[in-house]
Amino acid sequence: MKRSGFKPRTKPMRKRSAKRQAYRASDEGQAAIVYMGSVKKCPCCVCGHPAPSEAHHCRSDFMPRNDFATIPLCYECHRGQQGFHAQKSTWENINGPDHGFIKPTMKLVNTILERENNEETIIDHINGYINDDTSGASWWTGR
Ligand SMILES: [Zn+2]
Ligand SMILES: [Zn+2]
Repeated sequence: MKRSGFKPRTKPMRKRSAKRQAYRASDEGQAAIVYMGSVKKCPCCVCGHPAPSEAHHCRSDFMPRNDFATIPLCYECHRGQQGFHAQKSTWENINGPDHGFIKPTMKLVNTILERENNEETIIDHINGYINDDTSGASWWTGR
């Protein structure tokens, strides 16, 4: 079956609340809410600190904010003194780029959703990202 829909956005979303509201109401927006809820149920992907975690949005010059490009980080690894937002280059020297954790996070979230036995459409949606090897790199880097 050929997948359609839920393609990564190619144009940056403008920060307008009407657009944000429309997004929230859309299938993808609803999926994103459930997705990020599950990201927070994962242990910190850097140090393994038990959930709940914070959902960190990975960004690139080519990528507008995307709720599916979120990874679980504990407070310290996220916003603490050695955290990503305080020490980005040090953090990346130690852990690699934050977006390297996106696909492992998707796989883990899938496991959680399957275990909870719900949200089949969201699982489908996430699998679309995971299995999209051809655009996996370009989705993130724009290359
Ligand atoms: Zn941590
Ligand atoms: Zn963050």
